[in-house]
Amino acid sequence: MRLLVIEDDKDLNRQLVSALEQAGYAVDRAFDGEEGCFLGDTEPYDAVVLDIGLPKKDGITVLEEWRRNGRIMPVLILTARDRWSDKVQGFDAGADDYVAKPFHMEEVLARLRALLRRATGHATNELTCGSVRLDTKSGRVVVGGAPVKLTSHEYRLLAYLMHHMGRVVSRGELVEHLYDQDFDRDSNTIEVFVGRLRKKLGVDVIQTVRGLGYLLDPAAGEAEAR
Ligand code: CA
Repeated sequence: MRLLVIEDDKDLNRQLVSALEQAGYAVDRAFDGEEGCFLGDTEPYDAVVLDIGLPKKDGITVLEEWRRNGRIMPVLILTARDRWSDKVQGFDAGADDYVAKPFHMEEVLARLRALLRRATGHATNELTCGSVRLDTKSGRVVVGGAPVKLTSHEYRLLAYLMHHMGRVVSRGELVEHLYDQDFDRDSNTIEVFVGRLRKKLGVDVIQTVRGLGYLLDPAAGEAEAR
């Protein structure tokens, strides 16, 4: 999952980005509304953290522009504690949720997990496909009851496929959703990661759909687990 953080307070921006990276997301950052608006308009983010009070272009205007342009990614806005009008304006402009400053990082993380699972049609943090279980809160992966240790890239790949299980995901889509914009992208590496992941999971849950991409099929997984 790839996220965008737009926050002009440098310290807060850094704290948010590092907490989100720690939690297993690829993260891009912007420090003003103009740059952030452009990124959100041109890159396929899975969710955005958007401050309301921003230089060059305020958060409400950014959000209105995205929604007008048909950008539907979930947006969590950051509001000032005593500005109830920010929340009302934010929701009406197309925000999905908000956190008031100052906030606990855990709350931002939990709200983003909720937005991401809702956007992908899941009701809990625990995603299951056959004998593979992934907990988006703890970041733990279990296969047939036994914990599996994944690198951060392997985890990101599996988490994206699990959020989108039942649908074919192309290599191009994976590249766009697993790496931040500064990352040296090479879609060949996706195949390498899929290979490593298959080996570590020890079960054949990731199917290759020739010419199209990869598929995690929950139905096939169930048959296998029985
Ligand atoms: Ca601000």
